[in-house]
Amino acid sequence: MLFDLHVHTDLSPCSRLPVAAILANARRRGLDGVCLTDHDTMDAGRLVREGVQDDGLCVIIGMEYATPEGDILLFGPFEGLRPGLSAREVLSMAPAVGGVAVAAHPFRSWRPAGPGILRHERLLAVEVENGRNRPEENLAARRFVANRGLLAVCGSDAHSLEELGRVPLRIEAAIRSRADFVAALLAGNCRLAGDLPHCGAGASPRGRRDRPGGAACMV
Ligand SMILES: [Zn+2]
Ligand SMILES: [Zn+2]
Repeated sequence: MLFDLHVHTDLSPCSRLPVAAILANARRRGLDGVCLTDHDTMDAGRLVREGVQDDGLCVIIGMEYATPEGDILLFGPFEGLRPGLSAREVLSMAPAVGGVAVAAHPFRSWRPAGPGILRHERLLAVEVENGRNRPEENLAARRFVANRGLLAVCGSDAHSLEELGRVPLRIEAAIRSRADFVAALLAGNCRLAGDLPHCGAGASPRGRRDRPGGAACMV
């Protein structure tokens, strides 16, 4: 399934993309799923029924959480998460509650991720391609992830309809719910859809090296 992992509805103050426009256009842009990742809120879940829509599009509610050390994409049971936590607090808590934390656009010149995110031992995944980054910023993220045992993911970071679906992630599993989505990331069952399928053979995300054969998404 092709997912856009990182999309802002107009609940984010910087976005002009209504939920209705996302729902109306995602399928025709080739997407099977979208993750709504507004800044510091999961209130998009009040506007759309999470899960599979009538047209087959799977909608997942996530969040892009701001910390003093950079932004973290969160997928899991994070409704009600209070603002202002440190990166260390968020990254320690996420796996403990069955969620996934992703370092968002870690090498972007504005709002990069600091060492409190990138060096955290519980960090699972890194956004190595972000649709709003410059090419050299994405390249730096790919270089960072290489050989570190981190899961490589991507997202458009759409704040407008034109950006929706630009950087899709291929999930190698049937996703019908947030739990399915989180499980797929934890298992490393994804790869950058724009890439040749060079990643995966024998690789698996950090902490899961004891699971040979997982089609992990590593660069
Ligand atoms: Zn924004
Ligand atoms: Zn974003």
